Amino acid sequence: MSAVLGIILTLSSCQVQARDAVATDETFLMDTIVTQTVYGPNSSIIIGEAVDLMKDIEKTYSSYLDSSIISEINANAGVSPVPVGEEERNVIKRCVEFSEQSDGLFDLTIAPLVKLWNITGDEPHIPTEEEIAAALPLIDYRNVIVNEEKSTVYLSHPDMELDFGATVKGYAVQKVLELYRQSDIAGGILSLGGNVAAFGKKPDGSAFRTGIRDPHGTAADYFAILEMSDQVIATSGAYERYFEQDGKIYHHILNPLTGYPCESDLLSVTVVSEDGLLCDYLSTMFYMLGKESVVSHLNENSYSLIALDEQGKIYISPRIMEHFTLLDSSPYVFADQTGRKD
Ligand code: ADP
Ligand code: MG
Repeated sequence: MSAVLGIILTLSSCQVQARDAVATDETFLMDTIVTQTVYGPNSSIIIGEAVDLMKDIEKTYSSYLDSSIISEINANAGVSPVPVGEEERNVIKRCVEFSEQSDGLFDLTIAPLVKLWNITGDEPHIPTEEEIAAALPLIDYRNVIVNEEKSTVYLSHPDMELDFGATVKGYAVQKVLELYRQSDIAGGILSLGGNVAAFGKKPDGSAFRTGIRDPHGTAADYFAILEMSDQVIATSGAYERYFEQDGKIYHHILNPLTGYPCESDLLSVTVVSEDGLLCDYLSTMFYMLGKESVVSHLNENSYSLIALDEQGKIYISPRIMEHFTLLDSSPYVFADQTGRKD
């Protein structure tokens, strides 16, 4: 073998190794466990960049960190507009639009109610009627004034507050998906508390697969598997963040009209799309709206749905059926109009 050929062979075997190299990571962020698996060159560097990106997003959108832009906007409610970057302005603007579209069922100013119930905190409790009555008038997305020209955000009533709990994880996985796309990795998958993004393929050419959580099981129990490529999914349900008092479950998706956790005839809703922020908003909103609304939106162009109702029936958009595998162990079955378990 000539020296030159030897060098070429060595180089190409390095490249093969690099493309097949895998890095994995588990980190705690945004009050949940975040896992990544990335294949290809520089996989561990990309994983580190993704973690930094998600930390930055948490620092910007968390209302629990005093230094965040959101805390600054909240602290200036009824006082003065706060300058924000273009990126933050667009996220806030889209969340105002989501609030409009849902007629305020989803409302980015839900924070006073979220804080009152403190369901994800250390001491969740049922607020008094008076406390709820005092919080409800503060919740109104129409009082979020986004000034495009000056790039400011102003909450026009004192004590109003923004909350991005229903959307920030979807936004974060979207930004990581964009990072994966711009890198030279072969493929990667990120899971952030019910929000998943997948890019590319595994080295053997197969698609990334993610489990759809069994709402009656533990965090490791799935009833179905979904194949993903260049997509994002978000799942919402009442099974993870809740507390129980006198035999009743109080969960973290709150109805801004009543002030109480929303009643839903669904156990979970999964939204699949190419837009992480939209996915996360829709999963929360469809959970609140319930089965009838899911059934009438199964054929949308910009997203697909998988919902599980209280009777254990699955409703699924026909166009993702070929990527969906119901596990043999699943106690749930397809609802009649979408086919049968085979
Ligand atoms: P998770 O955070 O468990 O993934 P969701 O995406 O469904 O679940 O978001 C739930 C969070 O959204 C709550 O913890 C709260 O911060 C916020 N939230 C609750 N109710 C509403 C609502 N009606 N509109 C907007 N945000 C909400
Ligand atoms: Mg959500």
